Amino acid sequence: MRIWEPHVSRLLRANMFLIKGRDRDLLVDSGMGVVSLRGFLAPFLDKPVTHLLTHAHADHVGSAHEFADDLVMHAAEVGVLADPPADWSLSFDGYSEDKRRRLQAAGFDTTGLLIAALPHAGFDHRAWRIPAAAPTRLVDDGDAIDLGDRRFEVLHTPGHSPGSICLWEPETGTLIGGDAIYDGLLIDTLPDSDPAAYRVTMERLRALPATVVHGGHRESFGQAKLRFLCDQYLGSR
Ligand SMILES: [Zn+2]
Ligand SMILES: [Zn+2]
Repeated sequence: MRIWEPHVSRLLRANMFLIKGRDRDLLVDSGMGVVSLRGFLAPFLDKPVTHLLTHAHADHVGSAHEFADDLVMHAAEVGVLADPPADWSLSFDGYSEDKRRRLQAAGFDTTGLLIAALPHAGFDHRAWRIPAAAPTRLVDDGDAIDLGDRRFEVLHTPGHSPGSICLWEPETGTLIGGDAIYDGLLIDTLPDSDPAAYRVTMERLRALPATVVHGGHRESFGQAKLRFLCDQYLGSR
């Protein structure tokens, strides 16, 4: 099940995925968290939930604190979520000059608000903050997320951010890509990006026998598009 936040700007409108397992469910990422994700998902949750963060950027971790009893991420992202940056804002005015410049360089419009509707009357976007959260489990390349009847491998895929991870299910050829791979403008110009590492990640993702890729943004796609996107990145840097 794919979930997204309709009133969050396109740049930060990230995908979340709820994967139902036999013994437990898996929630991948949690958006900006402007409204309660736990509350929204309540009708769909009938088992313990493991919440995995593909990486600690504002558009993927907003409701992490609501799932803090079983929170999984890579060690390289822990520090950011422990002390969320002051410029994780709902207005581009709240972004640091450096971050705005980097996003502009990547081709994004960085003016105005990041939400197109208020969650409730009287909501003050200036006072909004993403709460800190701490993982209960750290994962690295080769670790497994086991739902009882489905088993995902963790791939450490740095480049967009140092602790970016993907999930790979060999049995079905399913790749959950986070911001390492999606059908849109890939970002390697953030302060914590590493284009050289991103190249290695792209070579690796390109070689996967994937049938479907669920990226951190935009629509899902298949292997041909995966290879095209990897080639496009590798050819442009
Ligand atoms: Zn990101
Ligand atoms: Zn993102």
